[in-house]
Amino acid sequence: MRIMHIAAEYAPIAKAGGLGEVVVGLSRELTRYGHQVEIILPKYRWISTDGATLEYPSLPCQEQGRPHDARIWSLEVEGCLLHLIEPLGPDAYFDRDAIYGFPDDAQRFIYFSLAAVEYLKRTQATIDIVHLHDWHTALVAPLLRGPFAKELSVARIVLTLHNLEYQGKCAAWDLDRIALSSSSFPPHTFEDPTDAHDFNLLKAGLLYADAIVAVSPTYAEEICTPQGGWALDPHLRMLRSKLIGILNGIDYTLWNPGKDPFYSAHYTAKDSMQTIRAAKKSLQKQLIARFGLNPEARPWISAVTRLVPQKGIALLQHALHETLAQGGTFLLLGSSPIPTIQQEFDQLKKTFQHSNQVFLYYQYDEALAHELYAASDFFLIPSLFEPCGLSQMIALRYGTIPIVRATGGLKDSIIDYEAALTPSHQRNGIVFQEATPDALAQALRRAFLLFREETTTLQWLIRHAMQLDFSWKRPAMEYMRLYQKVLNTRT
Ligand code: ADP
Repeated sequence: MRIMHIAAEYAPIAKAGGLGEVVVGLSRELTRYGHQVEIILPKYRWISTDGATLEYPSLPCQEQGRPHDARIWSLEVEGCLLHLIEPLGPDAYFDRDAIYGFPDDAQRFIYFSLAAVEYLKRTQATIDIVHLHDWHTALVAPLLRGPFAKELSVARIVLTLHNLEYQGKCAAWDLDRIALSSSSFPPHTFEDPTDAHDFNLLKAGLLYADAIVAVSPTYAEEICTPQGGWALDPHLRMLRSKLIGILNGIDYTLWNPGKDPFYSAHYTAKDSMQTIRAAKKSLQKQLIARFGLNPEARPWISAVTRLVPQKGIALLQHALHETLAQGGTFLLLGSSPIPTIQQEFDQLKKTFQHSNQVFLYYQYDEALAHELYAASDFFLIPSLFEPCGLSQMIALRYGTIPIVRATGGLKDSIIDYEAALTPSHQRNGIVFQEATPDALAQALRRAFLLFREETTTLQWLIRHAMQLDFSWKRPAMEYMRLYQKVLNTRT
């Protein structure tokens, strides 16, 4: 199959969260089966074009009735072929210092969607599957089936929902910019479900995709309910027959405790428990020295996360207090795009500036993330909702036991180590149900007990966690089955 992903992220060169890891992990696995997989991605400022091929010095594209051409580069990264779109207009849409978070994000990705389709048109490619990701590229679906339908040969469109909270709400005139007339589509195609004056790019994409994938089976259920549907649930219920849940995997090349490029004390699932413990201890020792932490304060409870409401902001703070009360060390790596939340955490840092049992660091830091996954004893994910979540799978791979709230993909991947009704080989972490301080505290107390009194159980859990397979093998098979199914379905 020839599969063309169109996405805003591709790890590690363009990663803001899980989306970038999914695109690279899935693409790389699909190429192993002989499929021709390519990715269309914005050319962000920091992506170097050294070694890239200039495919088109100036691909014609229109915006606001004026030429807004794009330069197209092709570049092989992580074993896959990327086509990078570099807009040449004055707005410098991707020549900025971050992937998202600008007031003109909708315009940036509307332009990107149009340029991606113009690029496909120019190459005259015959494509089996165009695979879109989230609202950023959802507009490609109506573009392909609307104004470009006769000019392009794209058999089927798949749209993966990584997080329904973000929908690409914009004003009607944002589509005017690329001369896309909503009146040439059935009524209400673009209409936002909460405000009829707004447009909603994701919703239009849902309507035109041949298949919709939610990133876990539980999330596929949750988004069809008013509690989890972000007002799109009536549409998703209507489209239920083309919605499926596929739990993501993680890329075992990017996440490998045996060969991690960010630290030297390597260990693998095949090592003895003694070797694993010695490696983790040596990593902790280095971090203790670097951050001035108390070597006696164990276990280490860590979190690496975007600080947004979804991730359970209040619960993270409760966890800090509870960890201190129990005598452990709390480590948090994360930053917030929301100023009020960032201020709250800045305040927290001030409060605990003299504590040698707390480490709070508010940057995006890939190297430190790897070190924390490897060095910690437990990894905390108290999300209010979580479409899939990758960090629990990464933690398992590094022999760090996840403590999670049972929601979305966390529920599908982590089973409590004491779940009596589940066979023991499926149990792999600590799970709490309610998003309350009490439930969280109870989970943390169990973690401390496990660490201090039930060392044999903990050792079994660590080894077992590292041996589990959360690679892309299984999800890639499920995606291939889905691609084949939609290709075989008459429209
Ligand atoms: P989401 O996509 O909602 O942010 P996921 O669990 O799917 O959550 O993926 C998050 C990814 O981003 C993980 O690989 C995690 O390690 C990484 N990450 C989050 N915050 C940071 C940070 N501050 N520094 C480095 N990596 C981070």
